[in-house]
Amino acid sequence: MTDLEGFRSETRAWLAANCPPEMREPARDESDICWGGRNAVFQSDAQKNWLERMAERGWTVPDWPKAYGGGGLSPAETKILKQELARIGARNPLYSFGISMLGPALLKYGNEAQKQRFLPEIARGQIRWCQGYSEPGAGSDLASLQTKCEDKGDHWLVNGQKVWTSYADKADWIFCLVRTDTQAPKHQGISFLLFDMASPGVSTKPILLISGNSPFCETFFDDVKVPKDQAVGEVNKGWDVAKYLLGHEREMISGMGLGGQTESLGEALGDALADDPILRADVARFDVDAMAFRAMSERFIDQLKAGQAHPAQPSMMKYVGTELNKTRHELVMAAGGSSALEWESDRSKQGKAAREWLRTKANSIEGGTSEIQLGIIAKRILALPGA
Ligand SMILES: Cc1cc2nc3c(=O)[nH]c(=O)nc-3n(C[C@H](O)[C@H](O)[C@H](O)COP(=O)(O)OP(=O)(O)OC[C@H]3O[C@@H](n4cnc5c(N)ncnc54)[C@H](O)[C@@H]3O)c2cc1C
Repeated sequence: MTDLEGFRSETRAWLAANCPPEMREPARDESDICWGGRNAVFQSDAQKNWLERMAERGWTVPDWPKAYGGGGLSPAETKILKQELARIGARNPLYSFGISMLGPALLKYGNEAQKQRFLPEIARGQIRWCQGYSEPGAGSDLASLQTKCEDKGDHWLVNGQKVWTSYADKADWIFCLVRTDTQAPKHQGISFLLFDMASPGVSTKPILLISGNSPFCETFFDDVKVPKDQAVGEVNKGWDVAKYLLGHEREMISGMGLGGQTESLGEALGDALADDPILRADVARFDVDAMAFRAMSERFIDQLKAGQAHPAQPSMMKYVGTELNKTRHELVMAAGGSSALEWESDRSKQGKAAREWLRTKANSIEGGTSEIQLGIIAKRILALPGA
């Protein structure tokens, strides 16, 4: 038996013994997902146990170094772990912007003290983060951000406003882009700051959506004092950290909707397709595209881990992944007919299909719009004239 075969059989046995049966069922809805944090609310003992067992082994972040709470697994072992988790339909034990966005940026740009301080807490799900990038006047043109950050000698003083800050009202800390030099060209006067959302002067105002949910907030900073050692990377060079983090965010968003699904859409819809040859053909086309995307994602992750991925490749993955996810949900709605539009009458489903379909519309906006990704691909990958 090779080392990897041995690792697979040990992993399979450990998961069989440690993944609670309830955690092998898909989450019912948003409220059934574990985000961790200072005030974590667990829906069940199974959810809590699953997080604790995975964190104990470093498997919430299997490829991070053990010294920072990770599993220290090689890329090949990480892939096997993911395959084994998918095989039993195991839930992600922890959803976390700390894991999918901030962690990779800290591993690359953080100093040793910052890594020691934040990474193990992120890995154990003890700290919940939000992302303070967008502002009322800085979305696609993110580098136009105006949140002001002054050097007051022994601390930073932050004043300004962010918008669309997902879960700002639930997060413990924020990773935030601020302007530290108002005279420099716009990309060069930005710094990347971390601070506690409980700091005096931080306030949030949830944005109520048509669905009735408030997944994000306006976030206000009014004379917020931030310790000097909480800037990541060089002061005024935060744009490099911001871009690197965005690559990881785009990679994460590209996998939404497709990554966790093991069965094809044709299998999932089953009888609903029986009488409709046109819809069947559309679903077959989608399943082929989804298979190709999965293969491309796998190759991309391998290249990324080997340090061989093109820096603009996450834009390509995000564009294709989010467009596919939108198509998937259009097809689910088409197969469901008028009953898929049900919103509130069926309490057990609570308009799941319609709500999920509407949510996919945001996939091609969050983390940078599809138009912006196409612009990046045209310029940096295809090197098109005039791009
Ligand atoms: C669900 C969701 C969650 C989010 N969470 C967060 C978060 O946690 N933190 C955070 O900081 N932000 C968050 N955002 C904000 C998101 O990053 C921005 O909405 C996005 O970058 C677009 O910015 P904007 O909304 O200001 O649109 P604009 O930049 O005003 O764009 C409007 C339209 O113009 C197009 N456009 C703009 N510039 C160009 C161009 N150069 N070429 C072609 N077309 C262009 C865009 O594609 C878009 O269609 C979230 C957004 C959504 C939808």
